[in-house]
Formats: sequence, structure tokens, C-alpha cells
Amino acid sequence: MKEQSIPKATAKRLPLYYRYLRFLADSGKTKVSSTELSEVVKVDSATIRRDFSYFGELGKRGYGYDVESLLNFFAKTLSEDRLTNVALIGVGNLGNALLKYGFHQSNNIRISAAFDIREDIVGRIVDGVPVYPLSDMKEQIKLQQIEIAILTVPSSVAQDNVNKLIDAGIKGIMNFTPIRINTPHDIQVQNVDLTNELQTLIYFLNHYGPKLEKQEAIDK
Ligand code: ATP
Repeated sequence: MKEQSIPKATAKRLPLYYRYLRFLADSGKTKVSSTELSEVVKVDSATIRRDFSYFGELGKRGYGYDVESLLNFFAKTLSEDRLTNVALIGVGNLGNALLKYGFHQSNNIRISAAFDIREDIVGRIVDGVPVYPLSDMKEQIKLQQIEIAILTVPSSVAQDNVNKLIDAGIKGIMNFTPIRINTPHDIQVQNVDLTNELQTLIYFLNHYGPKLEKQEAIDK
């Protein structure tokens, strides 16, 4: 399987496919066509077929795809077949919301450790997650084999925390702060700037009207 070399745009659609396939499997469906998938996930069927072609023989033309084998395959590809522990740095408003959120659309992602400097929460358990002082970061990240961290600290201390995380062995960072962080090339970063997303939406509404002809126009 050429898992490593799939385009990023394809990789981004995998969780979407996976979620719907799980729904299909739960409702007892065994086959699905790219057209059916297309209608629900709002990705055109040619793109779906192209995406799936990166994973080798997953179905035969005309017969549809086998739901179970797709599901097993995607579960492995998305590491949904094993538990992924994630660290959260900064238990403020956003951090708290993420702890509450629980990522319940995935069975196997869980925030297993949170870190903060606030004396009133360090040493406590918030929504089932222990909050550690920053001085325990390296030890806990190693102990819990955590490779991914969610960053919800103030911008002013973002880079400082990133440096600490990298030193502790973190490989991927979901950066909720509005600043662009500096990382070595082997660290994966996903920037999630909620204000920016909302401003983009407002811009699109004002400049293109309420509905664009194709969702891809926004995605590009
Ligand atoms: P949000 O930005 O999520 O709405 P907030 O406004 O409640 O949060 P912020 O000042 O943004 O609070 O801080 C977010 C969290 O980061 C707080 O819990 C704060 O204690 C924590 N924090 C502040 N400085 C650091 C630091 N150097 N390292 C780790 N956590 C920190």
C-alpha cells in the first residue's frame, strides 16, 4: 500500500469517509457505490474513486465497494485500531471545551494528560483528565507515549511551550493559537485558527453570496 505517498487533500477526506462507512456498517449495509458515498459526504464521485485508487484494490467497478473491508482498511490507516493518547497544553476556555468535547466521533483518541501553570487546577482532574504542572511535561509525555499535543495557551507563550513539547518528544501539534509556530521539519503542525475560519466565512458570505456552486471552491 502506498499509504505514505497519498496526497494531503486525500488524507484530509479519510476521516469523513471513515465516519460514514462506520455508520453504513452499523446499519447493516455491506456494499456502497462511489455515487452513494458522494451524495452523503459531498465529495464528487470521481474524486472518491481517485482517492480510493491510492489504496489499491478496494472494490470492483460496477459492484461497489465492500463496506467491511473499506472500514477495516480506513481504521488501520487512521490508526483507529489503536488508542492514541493526546496531551493538551493550556486549560483555559478553549482547552476546557476540548476536554469536555471528548472527540467522541473517534473511538480511539483521548486526551490523557493536560498541562497548565494555574495553581487552582494543577493537580486536579478536569473532565476525567489529570492536569499536571509544566515541570512534569517531559516525564508524562514519555510515560504515556504521547506523540500529539493540542496547544491552547496564550500566543505569548506558544513558542516556548512548543519548544518544551519538542524537547519532550512530541511529533505532531494541533495549534489553536493564532500565531504560526516554528518547528523542525519532522514535526507535523495543524493550525486551527477559529477566528480566522470565521472571518473567512464572513468574507465568502459577503463576496460570493450564501451558497457557492461547489464546496471545492471553499476548500481550495
Ligand atoms: P482561551 O484562550 O482558551 O479562551 P482563556 O482566555 O481562559 O483561554 P488564556 O489566557 O488564553 O485563557 O490561557 C489559556 C490557558 O493557558 C490558561 O489556563 C492559562 O493558565 C494557561 N497558560 C498560561 N500561560 C501558560 C504557560 N506558560 N504554559 C502553560 N499554560 C499556560
